[in-house]
Amino acid sequence: MLVNKLILSNTYLITVCLSLVLVVFEIDHANGADYQIATFAADVTIPIGHRCMGILPTKAKEILDPLEARGFVLTGPDQPVVLVAVDWCEIRNGAYDQWRDTIAEAAGTTRERVLVCSLHQHDAPVCDQEAQLLLDNVGMQKELYDPAFHAKCLQRISAAVSDAMTETTPVTHIGLGQARVEKIASSRRVVREDGTITYNRYSASGGNEFHAAAPDGPIDPALKTITFFHGDQPVAMLHSYAVHPMSFYGRGGVSSDFVGLARRRMQREHPRTFQIYVSGCSGDVTAGKYNDATPASRQQLTQRLFQAMETSWGNTKRVPLEQTTFQNSTYDLPFHEAEEFRAENLNKVLHDKSAKEGDRILAAMSLSSLQRKTRKQPLELPCLDLGAAQIVLFPGEAFVGYQLMAQKMRPDSFVMSIGYGECWPGYIPTKKAFDENFNHDWRWVGHGSEKILKQAMQEVLLPAE
Ligand SMILES: [Zn+2]
Repeated sequence: MLVNKLILSNTYLITVCLSLVLVVFEIDHANGADYQIATFAADVTIPIGHRCMGILPTKAKEILDPLEARGFVLTGPDQPVVLVAVDWCEIRNGAYDQWRDTIAEAAGTTRERVLVCSLHQHDAPVCDQEAQLLLDNVGMQKELYDPAFHAKCLQRISAAVSDAMTETTPVTHIGLGQARVEKIASSRRVVREDGTITYNRYSASGGNEFHAAAPDGPIDPALKTITFFHGDQPVAMLHSYAVHPMSFYGRGGVSSDFVGLARRRMQREHPRTFQIYVSGCSGDVTAGKYNDATPASRQQLTQRLFQAMETSWGNTKRVPLEQTTFQNSTYDLPFHEAEEFRAENLNKVLHDKSAKEGDRILAAMSLSSLQRKTRKQPLELPCLDLGAAQIVLFPGEAFVGYQLMAQKMRPDSFVMSIGYGECWPGYIPTKKAFDENFNHDWRWVGHGSEKILKQAMQEVLLPAE
């Protein structure tokens, strides 16, 4: 009798357990595919004495808050796709490939499926492997960046990705949300009273009456959030907004700035949901109108961005994740047309001991990109299509016009554009900005770039049926 009872209750238990397993199985497989997400983070704070923004005369004096690399690996029926957002100014050429190869190996995928982007803070490093090698040859070791520190960061990120891969969470749905951001972004393009155009409204122009009074100009006012859900539990949030992420810089205070501070606040408020922030295409967008470069401004911008993240999350609608596809397009952009961007002239500056340090570093960066052209290594435009949303990673400081074009190509979809992938091009102006004579010594690409980039955008965003 007792034995029978035990058998009965065991059978009952097994049945209950099996049904539970089936329910869980149903949640995870409701959409016919098994997607999993792994989130990871690693510290990438530069040491005291390290160069900031590649050329700034004041090197790191103090760490105001740490720099991080934060990302996710999404696994499914195809090879994993990785996105990592780094609190650095820029990663270029060989250094960019080192990041992708290191992460690809740890995540078990290929280089092209690893989307690496910088957030573009300016009290943070610019890394370009070949440029530093060229500088080494003229006695300027570690003047762009410290390769030993860089190698340590890669080790940390590799370990973080490997660890994360042992603890993945099923993804059943994605959430799409957005919010209008109040008083952060403004265009660098301002029309003067006489009708002429200037692109000189920089990040800290809010102290200037004319620049503070001029309208926002062409920006994308929306912060977008993609959330990865397991059932109704938000596992990770990816926020994107198009603005240069600086309140103040160049004083030696290393910081993830207002974008990193807002992300951290969001993380504190939502401890169970991993937070990632990426900068949208914002080559010509800064906080210039609203920022006077004081610590108080940094706090205000942090609060406004954090508020937009909360509102965007509040507006989030969940849809099942049924299928993902990955598209990538390769192309090349024309190099800067000016005489001083020819290799022989660049070499002269690099070797000229009387030239300014910053100019010699810029020359090395230019030569590095010319080497890339010689070896015919193209640019890429990777796009992760989640069905209801697309995540597309642009190179360099693509102007916001590209992000607006991308959204226009898919008007019924949720297109999240990210800037500052492979950063060798520097500014990528639109045709209009080229026609208006936009120029800057952080521009390495030439006229005709828009047509080529637009073609690549069409290939990944409007793939043939
Ligand atoms: Zn910039």
